[in-house]
Amino acid sequence: MDSDEFAVAGRQMIDYVIHYLENIRDRRVFPTVKPGYLRELIPKDAPEKGETWEAVFGDIERVIMPGITHWHSPRFNAFFPTANSYPAILADILSDAIGCIGFTWAASPSCTELEVVMMDWLAKLLKLPAEFLACEGGKGGGVIQGTASEATVVGCLAAKSRKIKAIKEEDKEHPEITERDILSKLMCYASDQAHSSVERAALLGALNIRLIKSNEDFSMDPKLLEEAIQKDKADGLIPFYVVATLGSTPCCAFDSLVDIGPICQREKVWLHVDAAYAGSAFICPEFRHYMEGIEYADSFNFNPHKWMLVNFDCSAMWIKDSAELVEAFNVDPLYLRHDKQGLVPDYRHWQIPLGRRFRSLKLWFVLRMYGVEGIQGHIRQQVALAKEFEQLLKDDNRFEIVVPVRMGLVCLRLKGSNELSEKLLKRINESGKIYVTPSKLREKYIIRFCVCATRTNSEDIKYSWKVISDFAKEILEENKH
Ligand code: PLP
Repeated sequence: MDSDEFAVAGRQMIDYVIHYLENIRDRRVFPTVKPGYLRELIPKDAPEKGETWEAVFGDIERVIMPGITHWHSPRFNAFFPTANSYPAILADILSDAIGCIGFTWAASPSCTELEVVMMDWLAKLLKLPAEFLACEGGKGGGVIQGTASEATVVGCLAAKSRKIKAIKEEDKEHPEITERDILSKLMCYASDQAHSSVERAALLGALNIRLIKSNEDFSMDPKLLEEAIQKDKADGLIPFYVVATLGSTPCCAFDSLVDIGPICQREKVWLHVDAAYAGSAFICPEFRHYMEGIEYADSFNFNPHKWMLVNFDCSAMWIKDSAELVEAFNVDPLYLRHDKQGLVPDYRHWQIPLGRRFRSLKLWFVLRMYGVEGIQGHIRQQVALAKEFEQLLKDDNRFEIVVPVRMGLVCLRLKGSNELSEKLLKRINESGKIYVTPSKLREKYIIRFCVCATRTNSEDIKYSWKVISDFAKEILEENKH
């Protein structure tokens, strides 16, 4: 493909993308294909000779679209949102064209420098404590990880390294204590409502984790955390990492940093805060009370790629002392060194892979083109839509709202047995009219309805409500007999 052909194909692709996104409601939100469908549609082997763009373009609708779950459809109310905006798509086109791998400053200075500044911009918007900002001249700073899961692993490994170092320094009388001895005793903690990626971080690090029972409101019980830490210490174990969640996956519960933070501080345990979904809302002052106590955190993470109009992947992580990351992850071969080392971050030390894309471009484009007000407006509108949906449920006594609606997530169920709500969810999703996901809170089966797509409006909420309400009627009728 030469540049003239690229110009034509590029325009065609942009037109396709616009048409796709602007007419997405017309597509069935959840596909009907069966596993293995795609192999039947394309040749067994790669083509010997290059094909035309027209042939490739034609196959988007024939091969790909039948198997797409349309995450950006207002009919998609499953999981949590993944963001999508035209400015972010434009930035990704540029990032793909530049195609640099910014593992060190020298590998592409603007890739590193824009990221450092964007993370400061974002930290200031969220009113994070000054220690997290690179521009404050301290040890703090931000980095864009691919996902919240990676941020949790990175925090965990840095915390592990900190604790091992501290024990070795403090326990000079026992030089025989090996790293292996310490490792087997290290303990992580999180609420039983924490995302599965927290348990996975411990698994990947070959570390033990204790899930602390949550309170009535599904937040971590700080008293039980304290008790678990004290008991583990008495048993010779070494607490080193607590993950607090702001906006849990099952029901958007918020752990209390004000209560958990002082425990971590006193016990010299690293506090990582996972605000993967809800963190975007902290750009609005009225939601910031949920992060009260953030000053206790050693690391903080949220996903602009979930709710802040920046396409996947863009997971923002801040750390108070970046030297702890560098120490934990530093391997220093000659071929990666450069003569400006130490003057600016070399992000290869802040993450698991070596390679990294120019992700800050999309953050920059989005922040500039929406402005703070635009992003705040987006969050507020989505929360208002969730409240509108909540009101429809409140006015209908067949339904129960299981937890108060705080952000864009509504947790509902049919009053009565779990089986009724299970049937309802199955019927909704089989219809392909909207797509929702289940969860369990204590013993209650719930349907999670999340306002996800950027384009969702009040009409969409009414549509979704009608779908749910009609199927509820059907199921309740059937169960009368
Ligand atoms: N933490 C929470 C609270 C989440 O809700 C999720 C995903 O929804 C994650 C972590 C994992 O996010 P990621 O896919 O970015 O790893």
